[in-house]
Amino acid sequence: MFSHTTRAHMRPTTYKHQAVLNLPVASVRIDDAFWAPKLEVLQRVTAHDVLNKFEHDGALRNFDFAAEGSGGYHSGEPWFDGLVYETIRGISDLLAARGDEALDLRLDGIIAKIARAQDAVGDGYLNTYTLLDRPDQRWADNGGNLRWQHDVYNAGCLIEAGVHHYRATGKTSLLAVAVKFANHMSGLMGPPPKRNIVPAHSLPEEAVLKLHQLALDEPGLAAKLKLPFEAADYLALASFWIHNRGNHEGRVSHDGEYAQDHKPVLEQDEAVGHAVRATLLYAGLTALYLSTGEAAYLGTAKTLWDDIAYRKSHITGGVGAIHHDEKFGGAYELPDNGYLETCAAAGMGFFSWNLFLATGESRYIDKLETILYNIVLAGRSLDGHKYFYENPLVSDGGHNRWEWHPCPCCPPMILKLLPEIASYIYAYDGKGAYVNLFVASEGEFAIGDVPVRLKQQTGYPWTGSVGIAVMPEREARFAVRIRIPEWCGRYALTVNGQAAAHELANGYAVLDRTWGADDVVRFDLELSVDLIEAHPKVTTHANRAAIRRGPMLYCLESTDNERYQGETVRYAREALDKDTRLNRWLPDVPVFETEHDPAFLGGAVLVRTADENGRPLTAIPYPYWNNRSRGTMDVWLGHGHPADEAGWENKLYRKIARD
Ligand SMILES: [Zn+2]
Repeated sequence: MFSHTTRAHMRPTTYKHQAVLNLPVASVRIDDAFWAPKLEVLQRVTAHDVLNKFEHDGALRNFDFAAEGSGGYHSGEPWFDGLVYETIRGISDLLAARGDEALDLRLDGIIAKIARAQDAVGDGYLNTYTLLDRPDQRWADNGGNLRWQHDVYNAGCLIEAGVHHYRATGKTSLLAVAVKFANHMSGLMGPPPKRNIVPAHSLPEEAVLKLHQLALDEPGLAAKLKLPFEAADYLALASFWIHNRGNHEGRVSHDGEYAQDHKPVLEQDEAVGHAVRATLLYAGLTALYLSTGEAAYLGTAKTLWDDIAYRKSHITGGVGAIHHDEKFGGAYELPDNGYLETCAAAGMGFFSWNLFLATGESRYIDKLETILYNIVLAGRSLDGHKYFYENPLVSDGGHNRWEWHPCPCCPPMILKLLPEIASYIYAYDGKGAYVNLFVASEGEFAIGDVPVRLKQQTGYPWTGSVGIAVMPEREARFAVRIRIPEWCGRYALTVNGQAAAHELANGYAVLDRTWGADDVVRFDLELSVDLIEAHPKVTTHANRAAIRRGPMLYCLESTDNERYQGETVRYAREALDKDTRLNRWLPDVPVFETEHDPAFLGGAVLVRTADENGRPLTAIPYPYWNNRSRGTMDVWLGHGHPADEAGWENKLYRKIARD
């Protein structure tokens, strides 16, 4: 049915030591009332919007100037090249999943500019900021600053884009540029006598590992590219970068903890520093495990993930609480007006997905789901062309999405993560299938030598009913593993209308049986409206609660709920620890009613309740806020409940028992 998926280049990056196999975005068709319109807007509006705005900012002209050898006049931040490449990566995945001739041609034009610039330089190097504004300071030589110049980061973005563009289109135009640059770095960086240059901003680690995997998958590309294309070189480069964090021999530190350069990665056990850099480093570390099977990399990655998930994550999935240096705070330091950059959440999403591929454990998908349905979706307006950099959980009305930003890093990150949803829904191994996300869709893959199609129908996240048609090409025995979300208290599972016996393993309900062509699984999750409390060590959330229904967090906007006269808005950071009177108090046991409003921003379930004085309240899904008008917003509401210290292992948020 999806004949184009048979093209060899369209295989996804699948690393050798994955416990679970992933599907390419091209082999999953999304037909979902929640996600399909959002992906449509991503393709029709956001992709062009981001390219148009970069074009307007001179980001593409930088490549023309570099090709002409003109000095000076670099436009925008030094990492603009990288952001253009990230945009190309995201659009490439959209091309693979959905096809789009206009975007395909548009990328061709941009790639031609990039290739011309690299050709003009001649040795494979390319960074328009350094070439135009600091021509004698490549790699921070002669008094340059690698953290500012982003030479290695931009190279990594190029390499990742080259791999995604090739796997999406079969074209080698950008891949050739990427391989030339990767070969240039491989010759230059490494143990003595090579130079000790490591990324000051992570991302290149996993990018080079994706190139390594492509070289293993398609060694014949070397002849097509007419370039050296040595898998071992790329693995050595990524490994060198991971191992030489904290080794400052012959170079300056990238500000220590700020860029996770304070000690060797395998000695790091707490998430620190700039949160985008950190999450992308940890995603790369996990990819190094997936490439090599070295257990120490996985052990460190899991320790760092636990530190973030159970001590340093906001309830939206946001990470990086501290404004100064855009960094992680200490354990349980989770202020309402946290910084919470969209990019950092997306980085945590990529990190979580890699850990799922390494382990097959559902908790990593739970985290990914929270991120996808809440903070990352909030990062872009529903009309597709306004964006959040910061994603606080409270607003006095002054926080609004912008049309564009001097540092527009988040829109490309949204373009990178959202198309990947197609590849996150299902996964498989030799024993069966995984159903990770509940999205109306159809996916195909092979379990052993049996081609299998899975087709989901659901109204998730607004309803909890999921139907899954399991369609092997011939009768066969295998497991269908269905994720039981961490938030889910009760569910029912049937096969062909009969209650289905199943085991629980790694957070999945496992249906291990012989499947015929017409078997249908029905999975009904109870979607109750729950009051959520934070771990008692999160002092800013004492005597407060948030409203959640399924994967969706809810918030109050002033558009639906007038604020009380004269009450303090808890936005200023300095006010957070004071005994401010909260603007809304919920009764001990609030009564919630839900209403699916098809007219609300394309359709959504709204939650109605009342405060302790009986005044009505309307809560809307968090990612939908600031889409109707400017106004205030609150997530954490006043609610009296005792701080119970027990039962918090591997939890940062949980339901408040209401019985
Ligand atoms: Zn960003």
